[in-house]
Amino acid sequence: MKEFRCGEIVPGCDTKIEGRTEDEILEDVAVHAREAHGMDEVPPEVEERIRDAIVEV
Ligand SMILES: [Zn+2]
Repeated sequence: MKEFRCGEIVPGCDTKIEGRTEDEILEDVAVHAREAHGMDEVPPEVEERIRDAIVEV
């Protein structure tokens, strides 16, 4: 499994998103970003940082 902690990008957010692949996580991150952070879309440079922050667990 892979894991992404939103706090790596958004300080103070303790949401943890798990998935089998980076793309699966990015889909869930897009939903979380919209619902929790009011981001209509994840810009490419943020997606890059998210991919860097995804770790194998
Ligand atoms: Zn968050």
